[in-house]
Amino acid sequence: MSKLSRLEKLAILADAAKYDASCASSGAAKRNSRESGGIGSTTSIGICHSYAPDGRCISLLKILMTIMCMFDCAYCINRSSSNVRRAAFTVAEVVDLTLDFYKRNYIEGLFLSSGIVRSPDYTMELIVEVARQLREEHGFKGYIHLKTIPEGDADLIARAGRYADRLSINIELPSDEGIAALAPEKDGDRIRRTMARLGTQISDAKAERKRSRKAPVFAPAGQSTQMIVGADASGDDRMLQTSDTLYQRYGLRRVYYSAFSPIPDASRSLPAQAPPLLREHRLYQSDWLLRFYGFSVEEIASTMEGGRLALDMDPKLAWAMTRRDMFPVDVNRAPREMLLRVPGLGARVVDRLIAARRHRRLRLDDVGRLCQSLRKIRPFIETVDWRPSGLLDRADLKARLVPPARATQLALF
Ligand code: SF4
Repeated sequence: MSKLSRLEKLAILADAAKYDASCASSGAAKRNSRESGGIGSTTSIGICHSYAPDGRCISLLKILMTIMCMFDCAYCINRSSSNVRRAAFTVAEVVDLTLDFYKRNYIEGLFLSSGIVRSPDYTMELIVEVARQLREEHGFKGYIHLKTIPEGDADLIARAGRYADRLSINIELPSDEGIAALAPEKDGDRIRRTMARLGTQISDAKAERKRSRKAPVFAPAGQSTQMIVGADASGDDRMLQTSDTLYQRYGLRRVYYSAFSPIPDASRSLPAQAPPLLREHRLYQSDWLLRFYGFSVEEIASTMEGGRLALDMDPKLAWAMTRRDMFPVDVNRAPREMLLRVPGLGARVVDRLIAARRHRRLRLDDVGRLCQSLRKIRPFIETVDWRPSGLLDRADLKARLVPPARATQLALF
């Protein structure tokens, strides 16, 4: 391998890290002063935007330690049989880059992942050493998200938790059969065992901190994972079932869904085309319904055809269309759990409605003032001056509510 400059390594190792969805892009338009001759860029090599646990958008240096890997996961550009240009940072290079970018105010933290070199333990040691040096030798107070390797030694993973704000282990595929077929060196059972252990360590550390502010922190922003959408034949029902299990059993903070992108020289076991991005979006919407809106996987799955979420409407509307008997909901009397099920009503609006109805009986205009649009909501609610009458029974209700294709991409709930 020819000697690469630090900038060349950064270009390679930051590009390879983009396949990890755990850092969400802010969605800003891409502008680059190198092309325009002006000043300032909204994008810079290796910098992504993510959200801190308190909701702040933060910029992270998002890189791999190395793009070499001894594993051969079929869906991964870094796999051992892949014909990509390889590069690796040293611990000192990652530490210097992080400090350098931080001092220049480019970033507020580091997201560090890695291919597996020599052994899972050796790789975990490199990752932990970066975090240790940043925290202990340089007093780095920024955000650190470390990708952990479940095959690594439990003590090493525990050390990672002492330095990192967040840890993640990517489960990648929703079923053990999928893992065995596409990532043969990985073991679904081992991934879940490591997540369980981390979950216990995180909650124990939290409880200990409640007793004493001097108790050590352990991954205070919790653990997350990523699943690839469309790399295997798993349906959305299976993906949501797996996510639900991860949230319930191991206390995961987030499951990220990443639409599979075809890679060069891909294995024949992979689909030739990427799934529609809207499928990823519908999974995120369903994930919110599970976590914040009181829906069960079975309820969401009851709207699916062939295990797939409808693409032409959001999952809450799809559910309401099949359960018209549960509507209209009286906004002046209904419990919060039922208001959360009204298509078009988000959790924040529901809380505002509940606060407002303590002072007066709500009219349709009152609801309209608290939400963006009444169009989707109107057939499913009743107020002092409004009842949808026969609207709910109309055969063309879906056609009246489902926006044209382009708007469907953008509408949330
Ligand atoms: S272990 Fe990680 S980096 Fe290595 S091939 Fe599998 S997914 Fe890629």
